[in-house]
Amino acid sequence: MPQPGLDHRGVLFVLSSPSGAGKSTIARMLLAADPEISMSVSVTTRPMRPGEVEGRDYFFTDVPRFKEMADADELVEWAHVFGHRYGTPKQAVNDMLRSGQDVLFDIDWQGAQQLFQKAGGDVVRVFILPPSVEELERRLINRGTDDEDVIASRMERAASEISHWDGYDYVLINDDVERCFAQVRTILEAERLRRSRQTGLIGFARKLMTPLAG
Ligand code: 5GP
Repeated sequence: MPQPGLDHRGVLFVLSSPSGAGKSTIARMLLAADPEISMSVSVTTRPMRPGEVEGRDYFFTDVPRFKEMADADELVEWAHVFGHRYGTPKQAVNDMLRSGQDVLFDIDWQGAQQLFQKAGGDVVRVFILPPSVEELERRLINRGTDDEDVIASRMERAASEISHWDGYDYVLINDDVERCFAQVRTILEAERLRRSRQTGLIGFARKLMTPLAG
């Protein structure tokens, strides 16, 4: 919660991880527990997986339409990931911020970097690591959504994702989902309380300091 009655500037909260590190579960838990943060739903050219819902998980589109959006500057950032394009629609992010929401981004390191530049560094970047390579592979297999080739390429990709861990503000190891979730919430709470984000603080502090002036 931001401080009651005080305006604050919305937090751009990035969660990245190699797939299988548990990021989607943590993101879902955060959205369910915290009404003040909303998810940025990305646009992608990758095919829909079973169980996914248009507009909830992604906006699914084709390459020509994606290129149109990128050319028209409708995406805050975009990148090639696993041979497909993924991007963050700008308008939706602006709308969420304007309505006082913080925004959660499930994007890769390339997206985190671009967003960081666009937002003048005012982004909170959290990287979630799996506890081990073996555990990561086990989670990818158990998920059952990808075939063997895709899993092998995701493992390779995971190693390259992990090499970008030092581009993040916070790095968490997800060996216990409840603990990792609690850590994510702590980070978000602390970031909301940063002086620079509490735009209502100046007026509030002035009022408190009035007796000193007399
Ligand atoms: P998946 O296909 O498993 O849903 O996602 C693959 C990867 O693409 C994940 O690491 C996810 O964080 C990343 N991703 C999803 N949406 C975006 C986006 O809008 N921009 C960028 N740069 N990466 C994204």
